[in-house]
Amino acid sequence: MTIQVIYSGGTIGMVDSPHGLVPGADLAGWLERVLAGTALAGQVRLHELAPLIDSSNATPADWQAIVDCVRTSADDAAGFVILHGTDTMTYTSSALSYALADLQVPVVVTGAQLPLGALGSDAAGNVLGALTAASNPANKGVSLFFGQHLLRGNRATKASSWSYEGFASPSAAPLARIGAPWHWDDAALAAHAFRGPQPLATPKPYTRQDVMVASLVPGITAERLEAMLTPAPKAVILRAFGVGNGPSAEPGFTELIARVVKSGTVVVVSSQCHQATVLLGAYETGDVLAQAGAVGTGDMTLEAAYAKLVYGLSQGLTGARLAEFFTRNLAGELEA
Ligand code: ASP
Repeated sequence: MTIQVIYSGGTIGMVDSPHGLVPGADLAGWLERVLAGTALAGQVRLHELAPLIDSSNATPADWQAIVDCVRTSADDAAGFVILHGTDTMTYTSSALSYALADLQVPVVVTGAQLPLGALGSDAAGNVLGALTAASNPANKGVSLFFGQHLLRGNRATKASSWSYEGFASPSAAPLARIGAPWHWDDAALAAHAFRGPQPLATPKPYTRQDVMVASLVPGITAERLEAMLTPAPKAVILRAFGVGNGPSAEPGFTELIARVVKSGTVVVVSSQCHQATVLLGAYETGDVLAQAGAVGTGDMTLEAAYAKLVYGLSQGLTGARLAEFFTRNLAGELEA
């Protein structure tokens, strides 16, 4: 059984420089030492992407580089571990969950809050946890291991910039909690393995797309929002309040949304709540958005919603077809 590790960058393999942390550690040598004497010694293959990046520099092209690398080894690896920076890890894990939806093996994304060479680093624990998760064939799909938990890749969000429990999954139960033995959740594993109809049998590669995210705030004017949406993006995620409510009493606000939808931009309404299910009909302030043609994110994370729009656009979907596609559950990212 071979587990393929793909190293894309991130704090885990960084070293000090005069300008802060940068990639540069001997990850291959470190991994060999960490695995020496364990059941996985000699079973793990490492591939380093070039260039190694801080994940704050990631673009959809970097998501695609990981997808391509996984596909190259799909025939002879029993599972994959992706080493990634934590900053945009959940955008990548969401993106991978769509583009690799057909894959029947575990793909586990992980990283660390402290470089592998730092005293007290979480690097070894996270990598060993991810390798354990990647060795369980029941764990089909893209998951994220960090700290004490294995989370579903398209349900997770970065919750802390410093905690060793850096990620949360506010609307979906963890797949497993570590311990002796690990506690796996069978219902969560079944939900994780769900696949809806896919847009294309062979997905087209991710490409950069004009999707913007705008947060509504008390006092925002229609003019300010209009300026933010000019020129019009292909899709916009409006981070609204509560269950997806907006300032419906603001002059010109709903008319603007209707105009933007009519011009072909997909308007998606998400919530600023950490844990949310967007229900656009629950209040008049959200119903107007639905009436204007916006669609809600349901219980998707912002990262899952963003990556899904980029995925749909990369597949050639736009306008009403993209909006319809967005409301379908592709890979367990949307359950309510
Ligand atoms: N800036 C780093 C990155 O995302 C942070 C980390 O890995 O924790 O690459």
